[in-house]
Amino acid sequence: MSSFTLKNKSAILFDMDGVLYDSMPNHSMAWSQAMSKFGMHMTPHDVYLNEGATGHDTVIRISLRDRGYEATEQEIDDIYGYKASLFRSMPAARVMPGAPEVFRKVAAAGLKILIVTGSGQKNLIERVQRDYEGYITRDRMVTAFEVKRGKPYPDPYLKGLQIAGVPASEAVVVENAPLGIRAAVAAGIDTIAVNTGPLEDEILQAEGPAILLHSMQELADSFEKLFR
Ligand code: CA
Repeated sequence: MSSFTLKNKSAILFDMDGVLYDSMPNHSMAWSQAMSKFGMHMTPHDVYLNEGATGHDTVIRISLRDRGYEATEQEIDDIYGYKASLFRSMPAARVMPGAPEVFRKVAAAGLKILIVTGSGQKNLIERVQRDYEGYITRDRMVTAFEVKRGKPYPDPYLKGLQIAGVPASEAVVVENAPLGIRAAVAAGIDTIAVNTGPLEDEILQAEGPAILLHSMQELADSFEKLFR
């Protein structure tokens, strides 16, 4: 591990899917089914590579790749709407093992907690406030509803800094997706990559995180060491 430390940090910005919830397998299945219905093809690897981007941007990217032209706004609404309805019909994703322990330790250390997600899934945005009650409120969340440009643009994380009221140098991000890490690094924030999916470590490392771990439990277990 590098010389990275949490010692001089005052806020932690958490991504949601794949970090606070083990929700990526559901997203993966929903995207794959929705895209197939509209004549496009998305593998689980594709879904993880695009993770963190808004549904809107994902449809545009895959349409260009598979069909060679941009999806219309109507199509984007139809495809993302269908994907979202499939996702809602799936069994609820479990809370990511280790994540509640991370929250307890972060709060005990006196750091501010925020959630910065590309998600526009209203049910999950509601649920996170119950599952992580006492640690997070809606006004400490940046979602698809708060920004125009999603990850990999730095906008969601810049908005998070603004809400936290801290400079980038005092913040740290916890992210599992390449585009999410790119967004955080572009916002000038030290990033802890947590590789909870099937992508190779190298793909995440290429985006320039400060450190890379493999589970939220590992982050919980190494918290004291990182705080020194
Ligand atoms: Ca994620």
